[in-house]
Amino acid sequence: MTTTVRADICVVGGGPAGSTAARRLALLGHSVHLVERAVFPRRRLGDSLAPGISQVLGALGHHAPAGLHPAELFARWAGAEHHAPTFVADRGVFDTFLLDQARTAGVRISQPALARRPRRHDGDGGWRIEVRQADQRFDLECRFLVDAGGRTGLLRGNRRRAVTRTTALYGYWTPSAWEGPDVRVEAGRDEWLCATLLPDSTVDAMVFVERARCMGLARDARSRLYRSLLFTSDLVGPWLGTQLTGTFACDATSSITEDAVGRDWIKIGEAALTLDPLSSQGVQTAMTTAMQGSAAVHSILRRHATASTAAAFYRSYLQRIARLHEELAAEHYSRQRQVEHRQFWIPRAVAPSGSRTVAGAVGSRPEEARPSPVPHSARTS
Ligand SMILES: Cc1cc2nc3c(=O)[nH]c(=O)nc-3n(C[C@H](O)[C@H](O)[C@H](O)COP(=O)(O)OP(=O)(O)OC[C@H]3O[C@@H](n4cnc5c(N)ncnc54)[C@H](O)[C@@H]3O)c2cc1C
Repeated sequence: MTTTVRADICVVGGGPAGSTAARRLALLGHSVHLVERAVFPRRRLGDSLAPGISQVLGALGHHAPAGLHPAELFARWAGAEHHAPTFVADRGVFDTFLLDQARTAGVRISQPALARRPRRHDGDGGWRIEVRQADQRFDLECRFLVDAGGRTGLLRGNRRRAVTRTTALYGYWTPSAWEGPDVRVEAGRDEWLCATLLPDSTVDAMVFVERARCMGLARDARSRLYRSLLFTSDLVGPWLGTQLTGTFACDATSSITEDAVGRDWIKIGEAALTLDPLSSQGVQTAMTTAMQGSAAVHSILRRHATASTAAAFYRSYLQRIARLHEELAAEHYSRQRQVEHRQFWIPRAVAPSGSRTVAGAVGSRPEEARPSPVPHSARTS
């Protein structure tokens, strides 16, 4: 017989978005059950975090988060060189810290456990979700479902993607006599690169290319492309030792869900919105969508009269953030296009229709998406 576990809210995904939302909802008095399929600590992309992360963590009351280290960023972009303060996260430690904070706030956590097949509950509404944990299975019944499952997410739905599709090729390396800035960003001819010296003394080296450039390539050819691009950069190539892993590829295109929230479900973090990694604000934005999203969930569950206003506010918040980041990315790409007038940069330099012109709009933007002169929130030296 299948066991049934009940909670007000089920959160699927224990990344920064899921842990943040689960904790906040538990502190607001809801019973919350979080399901995370991975064993922590685990590696995750997104280890160079723009300085705004400290304000987000401060607002959440996390004044000494584990796994976050101040670091220096060096960028070569649009023919200029820039230094800036940044943070490097050990995402294994950082994500475990956030999940532990949720547990301390009273969130029940099933991990490693896979949430599957959310189905509508018969009768008074809500959900029944099948959870697989080792060779056990139980049903989780809840009134509200929070999808914090990252890019693949749990709930279906259409996404609006940037027209120009970007693929990230990446792998982990030993450093070779690494000296100087921990985070290095460089614009190439038809690609850009980011290499980060991680706290465990490995290097995460990423190359961002047009999707068509590596689509259909066999694994070996993709790996050769990746390595050849890394070694064209004298900012990165000479500092890499041995490649410790294979060469991986993943989508890095910005996107937004067309359906963010309903009467008993919500998508937060990358399940709702993915940013161009150029910003280094993916993690902090995942956490702010969780903060805004959990406020919406609380209103929907506790104050029925304002439920539709709360949902509308959350939708418009996501759209505003997506548009501001599209404009910000276009602004950075357009700087580089002025020095490298090539096919990778030309379409990316155009803000999508419906966006305001970037130039001149800087002062009127909300703080969370205020553009900086160079990618990764760097400043000119
Ligand atoms: C190439 C690339 C580079 C990036 N670089 C940066 C960067 O430099 N800085 C930055 O801030 N951000 C960066 N990001 C973005 C960053 O990785 C994400 O913004 C962040 O991890 C999103 O957090 P999240 O909680 O929404 O999702 P995730 O961190 O993806 O967490 C989702 C969790 O859900 C779990 N899950 C999924 N489905 C299920 C299921 N069915 N059952 C149970 N558990 C499930 C997964 O195991 C996972 O732990 C980058 C992204 C990419 C693709």
